[in-house]
Amino acid sequence: MYTQFPLASPIVQKYGGTSVGNVERIKSVAARIARQARAGHTQLAIVVSAQSGETNRLVDLMYQVNPQASGPAYDMAVAAGEQVSVALMAAAIEAEGLKAAPFLAYKLGIFTDQFHAKARIQSINTDGIKEAWRVGAVAVIAGFQGVTADMELTTLGRGGSDTSAVALAVALNAAFCEINTDVDGVFTADPRVVPKARLIERMDYETAHEMASLGSKVLHPRCVELGAKWKMPIVVRNTFTADEHQRTIIMPTTEITAIEALLVSGVTLDRHIARITIEGLRKDSSVISEVFAKLGALGVNVDIIVHDRPDSTLSEMRLGFTVARADLETARKAINSLVTENGYKGVRAEAEAGISKVSVVGVGMHSNSGVAGRTFAALTKQGIDIHMISTSEIKISCVVNEKDADRAMRALHDEFVK
Ligand code: ASP
Ligand code: MG
Repeated sequence: MYTQFPLASPIVQKYGGTSVGNVERIKSVAARIARQARAGHTQLAIVVSAQSGETNRLVDLMYQVNPQASGPAYDMAVAAGEQVSVALMAAAIEAEGLKAAPFLAYKLGIFTDQFHAKARIQSINTDGIKEAWRVGAVAVIAGFQGVTADMELTTLGRGGSDTSAVALAVALNAAFCEINTDVDGVFTADPRVVPKARLIERMDYETAHEMASLGSKVLHPRCVELGAKWKMPIVVRNTFTADEHQRTIIMPTTEITAIEALLVSGVTLDRHIARITIEGLRKDSSVISEVFAKLGALGVNVDIIVHDRPDSTLSEMRLGFTVARADLETARKAINSLVTENGYKGVRAEAEAGISKVSVVGVGMHSNSGVAGRTFAALTKQGIDIHMISTSEIKISCVVNEKDADRAMRALHDEFVK
């Protein structure tokens, strides 16, 4: 299932940064596309990312000229990598003797809202692609970028080309969306940390979304949300593996048999988090809302929150929360400014970066108890301290010291996945 595109249906394929990382790879992707065209596929839409490392280079350049860079100028710079990839891929396809039609977001009409650097796609005009197909050309489309109604360039957030591809697959009514990348699919854990990790052959959107959000870098979480919303199957495969059965298919739960709805599908690790602890806060919920309103206004996304009263006789409380490590400085400044502006007295705030979050994810948790106990026991047995815990219906996350993170991941994988 979902290994071959039906002949009469549109093909939407995304090629990531490493797949277009050098001339030889671009040529070999173009050759694959040409084989598909020669096999009779006439509706090819190819989405490309910037060459690997290129977006980082552009972001870096921007931050060198202005560490606070944001808005239209920021997006204009960081979207440039995809422009180059589209042009190179279109030219490589032409070198294969085919016609190619290159599209940037403004030319096609990939319309987004105006939130720069994290824009969301609102609509896609597919007329250009259909016209390209009519004249026998392969459509090559820049991922990651969009355009506002005012023709201002936007980007969809790092890793956003996956989302461009799924949105196009939906707009074009493709049978599925193929994401070609540098790994074979989604694994039960990062194989570099857990050598025993296995490829997950099929998974539901909910699990895939949790895993993507919790640190498995394979897919952009928003692309899974879109897939779920439109029931668009997402096939993740290795660009350069010939084995068509080595892949992960993300699809509606109804198509997954009970046996595959495992208790735990995978274990993820997010190393890029930080924790802030504030002690001595006045016990008053308006203080809590002040803290989070301030963080929200500065665009800091707060993840796990723990709130307690260390001594029930005192009118003080303690608040701990985690943020992305990139937001640590902003969060620290926000707390300091609250302390001075709002005259919080006796408040001590501590920020620490050396922590990570390990999570076990699986829809089977919905209906099974005991996962939490086994999670904590597996970590404790390894002498790993757990600083914070957060749970949802299908995941349990534990904040541990960064130095213990790899061991924690292996312990949880041994416990649940084997
Ligand atoms: N080039 C962009 C990035 O590096 C988008 C993507 O690759 O998906 O984030
Ligand atoms: Mg990516």
